[in-house]
Amino acid sequence: MGLIYMLGMAGSGKTTMTAMFGNWLSRRGEVVAKVNLDPGVMELPYVPDFDVKEIVNLFDLMRREGLGPNGGLLRANEIILENIDVIVDRINSLLSKASYVLVDTPGQLELFAFRELGSRLVSKLSDQNSVGIFIIDAKNLEKPSDVVMAVLLALAVRFHLDIEVVMILNKMDVASRKTLDLVRQFYSNPGLFLEEIKRQDGGVLGEMSAELVKVLRDFLPPARVIGVSALRMENLEDVFSIIHDVFCGCGDLM
Ligand code: GDP
Repeated sequence: MGLIYMLGMAGSGKTTMTAMFGNWLSRRGEVVAKVNLDPGVMELPYVPDFDVKEIVNLFDLMRREGLGPNGGLLRANEIILENIDVIVDRINSLLSKASYVLVDTPGQLELFAFRELGSRLVSKLSDQNSVGIFIIDAKNLEKPSDVVMAVLLALAVRFHLDIEVVMILNKMDVASRKTLDLVRQFYSNPGLFLEEIKRQDGGVLGEMSAELVKVLRDFLPPARVIGVSALRMENLEDVFSIIHDVFCGCGDLM
């Protein structure tokens, strides 16, 4: 039994992953529940078992309080936070019936991961087996410095939410295989990765990225990086396997 938070920048594929990984788990015979925490989502490719829009709907709120999209999102976040115990109760109730609860977090990563909402929710549910899947749009990784920034972001989310986070590269159906190799090289062969920085990243960004790699190497545990296509349901068995390694604490995530 476990709680799986889908995390990542807007457009990385959190909602698609919730739908498709949910389907994949159901086909394996697992009982899956899905939670939508985005008050502004118009249409979902899955039927949520709990929808935060029962508490607040962004567009109604904007109309009612005369707010723009950003003000509306911040206000919606406040309302969600005021009702956090309702959400925790609903998720706990789903966890009593389902083997996996997939939590689709709001489109904008910062609203959940870097504001009070995410850390409060994760901490209130911390007695459950929990993991964050940090989804990266592989098409956004062009240079080694992009990889360094993505790793830093995943790390910031991990520390802020105080949860184990596994990084996956999504949209591999349209991204180059070289992207996945580059991210793997970051973990498996930092020396070669530094050579790539010299080759591809110039100026201050290149210098800073190289220094960051050296620092991160001292702090980061080894990690298995998985490439998937949520849309095509490709490689989801690897996602399942890495989640299990986290839940049982038995794998080395390599
Ligand atoms: P979210 O904002 O992180 O929830 O991202 P969405 O799940 O809404 O996905 C954003 C866009 O990326 C949508 O148009 C999806 O169809 C598309 N998308 C998601 N996963 C994949 C994938 O594996 N491959 C491709 N090609 N597109 C994807």
